[in-house]
Amino acid sequence: MLIVMHKEATSSDLDAVIKRIEDHGWEAKPIPGGERTAIGVLRNKGPVDPAMFLDLPGVRDVIPVSKPYKLVSREMRPEDTVITLGEGEGSVEIGGNRLVLMAGPCAVESENQAIEIAHAVKESGAKLFRGGAFKPRSSPYSFQGLGEKGLEILAKVREETGLYIVTEATDHEVCDLVEDYTDIIQIGTRNMQNYRLLRRAGQASKPVLLKRGMWATMDEFLMAAEYIMSEGNNQVLLCERGIRTFTRHSRNTLDVNAIPYMRKESHLPVVVDPSHAAGRRDQVIPLARAAAAMGVHALILEVHTHPEKALSDGPQSLYPEQFQELVDGLRAMNINV
Ligand code: PEP
Ligand code: MN
Repeated sequence: MLIVMHKEATSSDLDAVIKRIEDHGWEAKPIPGGERTAIGVLRNKGPVDPAMFLDLPGVRDVIPVSKPYKLVSREMRPEDTVITLGEGEGSVEIGGNRLVLMAGPCAVESENQAIEIAHAVKESGAKLFRGGAFKPRSSPYSFQGLGEKGLEILAKVREETGLYIVTEATDHEVCDLVEDYTDIIQIGTRNMQNYRLLRRAGQASKPVLLKRGMWATMDEFLMAAEYIMSEGNNQVLLCERGIRTFTRHSRNTLDVNAIPYMRKESHLPVVVDPSHAAGRRDQVIPLARAAAAMGVHALILEVHTHPEKALSDGPQSLYPEQFQELVDGLRAMNINV
């Protein structure tokens, strides 16, 4: 249920609505918008009678929200959410008209490796540097990431290049550390339904890039985002990174249908990761172009200066020249990069 206030509603009008919601044992969630303030009603067990609120001063409308996810839903917030990193001239908006590029290696391997790749991707137009310090690997014998040392390297990358950082928190315990160092906290595909981590990220002061579980339906994905938002963090980015299908010609299948679906169902910015969808370098640029043509807000891509020596995901990592080629191609498509 969404209670939409008149533009002229006063703060005491708002307080009265919130009080009435709370008197019923429900949760009130004010959602400020450009044009109007709305108040979401959460944690109600059954339907809520709109008449309960229509008599209060300042209330313009009461709209039932039909979806299981509320805060994530476009019914709750018709306008797109824009997430801003930094302030002033160097700030970056994700969710607006510009396609934001996030690029870097799968894993931070050393300071030299990270700095070298960061300079290259920045040169081509990336605004964020990606790189895992804590890596969720299928094999316990594979490189697990540099841990806190990797986060320190990421902080150096930001200092030296001015790129913002996105890096993964693999569980709620490392989330504290990751939150301290990063600009965006990434939650990986394998953790999409790690509810303890989702709640912890919901209490964070940084935006969260939530990757879709490789097995997850859209409802499950959007409900995972709802977990984060229900803890008070409104800054969530929805990332499609490919789902498991029967194909053998790619690591995963980029679910392009999900892009217009997410744009319609949710106000949150949509990000696509063509690297993990493809799993192989030769498919990354075409998938990135397709996603950009469909109007996603950001792309997250793996780029490595020596992918043949990469400690993880080398086969899907673009060479810096290919990343530049991708950016040139997007500009030729009139995409505002
Ligand atoms: C990654 O971004 O390197 C990663 C592990 O992604 P995913 O969780 O989508 O597999
Ligand atoms: Mn990877």
